[in-house]
Order: sequence, then structure tokens, then C-alpha cells
Amino acid sequence: MNILPNVLDRQYKKYRAEYIKKAKHILDSGWYILGNEVKEFEKEFAKYIGAKYCIGLANGLDALWITFKLLGIQAGDEVIIQGNAYVACVMGITMNGATPVFIEPDEYHNINSEKIEEKITDKTKAVLVVHLYGQASNMQDIKTISDKYNLYLVEDCAQSHGARHCEQITGTFGHVGCFSFYPSKNLGAFGDGGAIVTDDEVLMQKFKTYRNYGSQKKYENMVVGTNSRLDSLQAGLLRVKLTHLNELNNDRASLCNRYLREIKSPLISLPKIRKDCTTVWHQFVITTDYRDELVVYLNENNIFTSIHYPIPPYLQEAYKYLEIDAGDYPISSELAKKVLSLPLYNGMTKKEQRYVINKLNKFKIQEDY
Ligand SMILES: *Cc1c(COP(=O)(O)O)cnc(C)c1O
Repeated sequence: MNILPNVLDRQYKKYRAEYIKKAKHILDSGWYILGNEVKEFEKEFAKYIGAKYCIGLANGLDALWITFKLLGIQAGDEVIIQGNAYVACVMGITMNGATPVFIEPDEYHNINSEKIEEKITDKTKAVLVVHLYGQASNMQDIKTISDKYNLYLVEDCAQSHGARHCEQITGTFGHVGCFSFYPSKNLGAFGDGGAIVTDDEVLMQKFKTYRNYGSQKKYENMVVGTNSRLDSLQAGLLRVKLTHLNELNNDRASLCNRYLREIKSPLISLPKIRKDCTTVWHQFVITTDYRDELVVYLNENNIFTSIHYPIPPYLQEAYKYLEIDAGDYPISSELAKKVLSLPLYNGMTKKEQRYVINKLNKFKIQEDY
């Protein structure tokens, strides 16, 4: 048996007829960028999330950097973010010239809300919360802090489509919720795609203008914008997938519950779920002191895994200029050496998963390591 970290065509094949029908309809329509499919998707996605507005964009990184741009974040400003975030989250901040201020994660791999307040200065303008691996962050506490200091609260929901904290869906706690529809995300397109959700009408209009060269009326440009349009084909296919998102998330949950129940290795720590949270299980991330040995062992058994993420953003070559050492954020730096994402994908069979679990439970550390 050969097990890959992710397999995308299984969930496509499950609803293949619906996707083909939609794609054919759009190809035949002669309208390929924005248009009716994008408008309808924006309406349906806003409704699903429980936000007033959604604006479709070209990808998740655009959702982040355009958000900070339109909130007026610029050079000299500081934005708070967790140390074990994905590098794109940090780029959304630094593309505007602003400085990321890192906070160590909590035991759920999300930003540790108890450590935010001590990092707030008079330069702090916003908090970027990343609901990592599909699990909602501690939003109630974070919102209290961001309100107290009058900070913008932005949520990166690229891994958390549908995840909740205290019954409220991620993306609706802050001023803006940023989404990616990269194919491997829980709500993935068949190419690049992204969106923001917000309840702020003025801000929504700004996004709508900015994504299309600063124009809402053809050949009339109000501001210098960018090109970050969602295309009709992606929007149409996302509309189809959105109708199955709960089902897809439930399917991931049953796979992950089986991992939780059946992985017994004392060398492996299983992910923890925050009280009052529903995770959508974007990844099933274990931690182990023997990560590199485990990867080799699994590879020898034709099981392939991935690591989210092997290098923390502040240790990337790109962020050398921040002059941060591994020791400045020991928890994030250690996690980068210990985390491992197990194979997880919609349509993973019981047989495939049993094979993985069986091998995990037989993992041993040899004396001569
Ligand atoms: C995928 C991802 C992004 C970037 O989205 P793209 O569509 O690939 O640009 C940003 N943040 C997080 C947490 C992600 O997982």
C-alpha cells in the first residue's frame, strides 16, 4: 500500500457529475471573470459564514495583504501574529511595510491569548489570528483584548472554513475574515481563489473597487488598485463544493476521531481540542520528539507525511532582516522540529487509515539512534 499525505481527486470524483455540469455551463456561457457566478458565490459564502458581505479575490495571500492595506496598516505599524504561523500570513503584514510581532502558541497550536497584552505597544495596530490546522483560536479572550486596545482584529481562516468557537463561526469575530480556496483547503477550488468576509459595508465597497484596478465602473478608476479577481469557473465550482462542505468536514472529523481513538504509541502526542471549539480538521498534527526518525520509518513503509511547518516564518531567509533567533521563540522553534501532519484527505478508506495506524503503533526507537 502507498499512502500519500493528501489526495485531491477522490472528493472530486464523488461529486464529479455536478462539477462537470457546472463547468460546462460556465464554459458555454462566454463569461469567465467575476460575473454572476462570483456574485452568487459571494452571497452564498457570506450566508454560510454568517457575515453580511463576501468579496471574492484571486487567492488567500491577496485577502491578507489587501485587508491590511485597506485598514491603513503601513510602515512603522506593528501587527501581532503567532510564531508558528504559515509564512503567507506574515507576508500579508510585511507586504505593507508593517512589522510582525510574534507571540508563542498555546497547547492547541493557536496564538496564546494570555501572551498578547504584554506585546502591545503604541505602534500596535492589529492582531492577525490564524485558526491553524482547522481549529478556532480563543476568540472571546482575543476579542476582549483587541477591543480594549482599539486594535483591528483580522482572522486568517484559510484552514478553518466552518470551524467554530462557542458556536460562532470563524471569520465573524473580527473586522475581516480572510479565506483561501487553494485546492487542498477544506473548501478548495480547482485552481487559485480567495475571499474576505466582513460586516462593514464601507470596507466591502473598498475591496470591491481595489480588486479590480480601483474601479467599479468600467474605465473609471477611483484609486490605484490591483488585479485580484476571482474567476467564474472557480466561483461556480466553489458553489457546488460549498453545498457539500459540511459533509466533507464531517468526513474529515470521522477520520480524525479514528486517529484519536486508535493511535496508541507512547512516542506520539495527539492533537488537543479546545473546549467549546469545533475544529474542521484541516490537518491532523501530531507531535513527537522522534519526528525525523518517524518520517523515515513511515517512508520505509510507503507512508508519506508533510510538516506544517518545518521552518518558522521568523527563521526564513526572507525574514533575516527581522534579526530574530530560534531562541527568541522557543515554543514555536521547538514545534517546527516536532510537528508532523498525518495523511488525511476526503475519501481516505478505512483500509488505508488502518494501515497507517497499525504502522504508527509499531513505531519503535532503536537503541543506536
Ligand atoms: C493557504 C494559506 C494561506 C495562503 O493562501 P493562498 O491562497 O495559497 O495564497 C494563508 N494563510 C494560511 C493559514 C494558509 O493555510
